[in-house]
Amino acid sequence: MTDHSKTIQGRTGPWEIVLGLEVHAQVASKSKLFSGAAVGFGAGPNEQVSLVDAAMPGMLPVLNGFCVEQAVKTGLGLKAQINLKSRFDRKNYFYPDLPQGYQISQFDQPIVGEGVVTVERDDGTTFDVRIERLHLEQDAGKSLHDQDPNATYVDLNRAGTALMEIVSKPDMRTSEEAAAYVKKLRTILVYLGTCDGDMEKGNLRADVNVSVCRPGDYEKFRETGSFSHLGTRCEIKNVNSYRYIQQAIEYEARRQIEILEDGGKVDQETRLFDPTKLETRSMRSKEEAHDYRYFPDPDLLPLILDPEWVKDLEATLPELPDAKKTRLQSQYGLSAYDAGVLIIESDRADYFEAAAKGRDAKLVSNWVTNELLSKLSSGGHEIANSPLPSSDIAQLVELIENGTISSKIAKEVFEHMWAGEGRPAEIVEKRGLVQINDTGAIEAAIDKLIAANPDKAAAVKEKPQAIGWFVGQVMKETGGKANPATVNDLLKSKLGL
Ligand code: ADP
Ligand code: MG
Repeated sequence: MTDHSKTIQGRTGPWEIVLGLEVHAQVASKSKLFSGAAVGFGAGPNEQVSLVDAAMPGMLPVLNGFCVEQAVKTGLGLKAQINLKSRFDRKNYFYPDLPQGYQISQFDQPIVGEGVVTVERDDGTTFDVRIERLHLEQDAGKSLHDQDPNATYVDLNRAGTALMEIVSKPDMRTSEEAAAYVKKLRTILVYLGTCDGDMEKGNLRADVNVSVCRPGDYEKFRETGSFSHLGTRCEIKNVNSYRYIQQAIEYEARRQIEILEDGGKVDQETRLFDPTKLETRSMRSKEEAHDYRYFPDPDLLPLILDPEWVKDLEATLPELPDAKKTRLQSQYGLSAYDAGVLIIESDRADYFEAAAKGRDAKLVSNWVTNELLSKLSSGGHEIANSPLPSSDIAQLVELIENGTISSKIAKEVFEHMWAGEGRPAEIVEKRGLVQINDTGAIEAAIDKLIAANPDKAAAVKEKPQAIGWFVGQVMKETGGKANPATVNDLLKSKLGL
């Protein structure tokens, strides 16, 4: 295991960060976990509330089989243990947006057990995050504090919506790794169709557990499994963007290091991240922490799954990101990095594969991952509705492959494509961008240049790198259209190199 932990230099010596995440992912489902009420974004307040969600006396929960299927699919996607027997428990607490007075969750017998997620870092290397469990639970409603100066309103549309809580082991060591983990988790869920993964809508949010320790301690923890080697953790609640996750961790780690270096103790507590001040602040300490008095929900039977059903479900899973990555590398000869960028969304990979048919796949991958993706992201587009179809990228690459245009001119053509001027071949034709492969024309330009600059031509013999100047001049002379390889070859022979 290469050490990717990042050392933070303190006054009293070096420190390292340890991170474990609890991610809440809203199950993609038309109805709620225990009622038939609709789930959806944009409905008016309390329009999607059944009597069960409002906890009217005598109402009984009925488990939504589709949500169970979604959780099991997700477990399979996390290469995790599927527990054929699980159970629902009541987690008791009072909050105005929780009319039942308890949340139905899973405590000691979750539907999914241990698994693993392989995560790509920005530099293309990967690391594994072990999954501890995934359980199903209800979401709460929402208190609205901004409707009236003197009153709080409650909207129960979200109450009872199914969530999957995915708990990782403390296997991330930097804020970048934590963000990359959530990104990869999101990719897997979206591939599976089990969560929409829209962080802005709160579909996916993370509780981030942060602690700090001295170099060597984390390794002891991994060897022995004993948490006593790690520092006390704080949990930062409900962070809902990759950037906030990183900022919250950076701040929180420094805060803990300062306390420890001043000879203090970190209190185990729940904290909130304030994105405007870029700091975390205490919400409640562990001493005030709720005693949830978990107990099995008497209204619900234990959940027993048929192993055959699980097997059948496994057979319906789509090709998952890791398998796709491996296949893109072996089938098209892509680097791990490029394949990693393409699989982040299945639409990206599909687009690439459509464009790469019969073309130089590495070249296609470069055009997609560099030029196209950066244009799309700066314009706020998704690749699924890219203004340029994959056939246009294929044609552009074909023009490079068959020598009609150089790679440099291709960039210019791409700009015109993006501006909506037509297909690549049309643009090349219309704008007269066809590469000059005619050695006669290139030779004439070179001869003229050498004749006009005898001193420079002589100097090149001493300093061969100076040939670059000649190349630049010929390209300028030909409007960038001369075939660069031909220019180089001819220059070398004419200059006697
Ligand atoms: P709780 O319900 O109290 O939040 P859980 O066991 O559900 O406890 O979740 C604990 C989370 O905190 C897990 O993601 C785990 O990996 C992480 N964690 C535990 N100890 C540490 C630590 N010392 N540093 C960082 N993260 C930790
Ligand atoms: Mg927790």
